[in-house]
Amino acid sequence: MREDQIKVMIDQETLENKIAELGAIISRDYEGKEIVLICILKGGAMFMMQLAKSITVPVTMDFMVLSSYGNELISSGEVKIKKDLDDSIEGKHVLIVEDIVDTGRTLSFLSTYLVKKGAASVQICTMLDKPARRVVPVDVKYSGFEIADEFVLGYGLDYAQKYRNLPYIAYVEQEE
Ligand code: 5GP
Repeated sequence: MREDQIKVMIDQETLENKIAELGAIISRDYEGKEIVLICILKGGAMFMMQLAKSITVPVTMDFMVLSSYGNELISSGEVKIKKDLDDSIEGKHVLIVEDIVDTGRTLSFLSTYLVKKGAASVQICTMLDKPARRVVPVDVKYSGFEIADEFVLGYGLDYAQKYRNLPYIAYVEQEE
């Protein structure tokens, strides 16, 4: 891939306005409660930090690493925990913060896992959703943007581990 094939799909302002809106809705929905934000590393990191800034109810944060694409563009279909939660979530309201829902395998696995760990509630907030790619159904409560079945990068999302620092969502323009 050449640098000039990277094109803006969702610009920073549009993205961050939407994230602020999500934060406001979440703050209203969880009024009087505390939330444990669970970030799925590494892709969810930039989104979660931006989202957390516009949440006004008390939050704590925890981080998990799950197996994902590796350096390839296709999913292996298997989910493994590489780094588990640091703290107990028993009786807590958990909000999973994810970069993108694709096949749904990761979040389906994780939601079940967190319910088993005794969370009082488990909801999902994703920055992007590719509904056309869904293999396993997942109940996504908060979603930033629905996008077509296209590989995207930036704002936490990588291409072979790079470009996570782009402040916008990009796609790769295919060569003729
Ligand atoms: P799922 O389990 O829903 O198939 O996969 C979700 C994970 O796949 C995401 O957290 C992300 O790491 C990866 N993924 C899915 N689509 C894309 C994409 O278009 N770009 C990048 N960089 N990662 C993706």
